Amino acid sequence: MAHITDETLRGMTRELIEENPEVDITAFRREQFDRGLAVVHYPEGLGGLGLNPKAQGVVNDELRTHSRFYNDLAINPIGIGMGMPTVLTHASDDLKKRLLRPCFTGEEIWCQLFSEPSAGSDVAGLSTRAEQDGEEWVINGQKVWTSVAHRSRWGMLVARTDPDAPKHRGLTYFVMDMHAPGIEIRPLYQITGVAEFNEVFMTDVRIPDTHRLGERGNGWSVAITTLMNERVALGGGVVPRGSGAISFLLDTWKNHQPDPHSPRHRVLRDRVADLWIKAECLRLTNMRARANATVGTPGPEGSVGKLFSAELNKAITECSVDLLGSEGMLHEPGYPLSRSDESIGSTQLTTNFLRSRANSIEGGTSEIMRNILSERVLGLPKGPEVDKNMPWKDIPR
Ligand SMILES: Cc1cc2nc3c(=O)[nH]c(=O)nc-3n(C[C@H](O)[C@H](O)[C@H](O)COP(=O)(O)OP(=O)(O)OC[C@H]3O[C@@H](n4cnc5c(N)ncnc54)[C@H](O)[C@@H]3O)c2cc1C
Repeated sequence: MAHITDETLRGMTRELIEENPEVDITAFRREQFDRGLAVVHYPEGLGGLGLNPKAQGVVNDELRTHSRFYNDLAINPIGIGMGMPTVLTHASDDLKKRLLRPCFTGEEIWCQLFSEPSAGSDVAGLSTRAEQDGEEWVINGQKVWTSVAHRSRWGMLVARTDPDAPKHRGLTYFVMDMHAPGIEIRPLYQITGVAEFNEVFMTDVRIPDTHRLGERGNGWSVAITTLMNERVALGGGVVPRGSGAISFLLDTWKNHQPDPHSPRHRVLRDRVADLWIKAECLRLTNMRARANATVGTPGPEGSVGKLFSAELNKAITECSVDLLGSEGMLHEPGYPLSRSDESIGSTQLTTNFLRSRANSIEGGTSEIMRNILSERVLGLPKGPEVDKNMPWKDIPR
């Protein structure tokens, strides 16, 4: 691993900022990538400098101090949070060179084609087929809940290549061009009225073999790289103290404080204080995790942040709506049925409340996070897995 002092790295980031004063975000991020300041633990030439991952905090702090954009997950959440680490770990050099830069700049948006109508928590049971035809693969099947598929250029696809093998061993992983013929994307509207996600139907879609990540039949271990990074992306963010969801709650407390002499005041004050403490605990835990971060796929501990942040965000938005009193039962008119991603980060409290219901489902449910933590971190006995070694084709569906 290369070594550069924090001071040098800070200086390099300042140079990037000073030499690119008025460019738009895309041009700035191209420059950031080319100088190795995109993901500093990636190799040189691929957006990094081969440093320790925690050094990224120095770059991001400097960008934030100078009010320059640094929030990767707002640019291309699935691509940067999950696609880039998967490509870096499993793709050929040519594919890395082709895919990483436009993913980081946001010029090419990515989506994740894992869940299916009957394979969500048990995603290894999926049915989408990939059959080899010379130097290409032919894909047939359906995915569901595919966030931002309608804006995506690339999709991370797991498909079944060997139905005779047990479910985890008959899968292969591909990067699929979302503009290829045979792909149909249909919106699914959420409780917020926004269609962030979709159904994706694939009929005889062709993917070149060069876009396969990992060996045929080894798709599960590639998928684990994506899933582990997803949990860290969803739950592992380090934000300044008191910012993010908890800041909306504090603002709501200031503007909608109940009568200070009422019992309601005491109860809600306790709830707000309790949530602030929990938000701070999560922030400090994530800071500690970042300080210990190593190169490679994150371990099952990533589920701690995912579980805690999902449940906390739900509790925070619930408390905000309770603070609004009867007003909290109203949702602003113009229920949008729109196709944007507006509900994410919205300051509208009821929208945030409705959107937060998905936090304990997306990226793996809270029940599944508890299973992972109990089995893989605490070493408790595993639940029954009756179909684990059965050929996939014989599993009753
Ligand atoms: C907003 C949002 C965005 C999403 N984006 C994407 C995306 O971009 N790409 C993608 O591939 N998927 C996406 N998903 C899908 C998500 O990953 C799945 O919804 C999730 O994994 C749960 O699967 P399921 O919906 O099939 O529920 P099921 O797996 O059918 O689960 C139903 C219930 O049973 C519980 N359960 C299931 N198995 C167990 C068990 N072994 N032990 C205890 N309880 C269990 C679950 O916790 C849940 O409460 C998204 C979901 C949401 C809500």
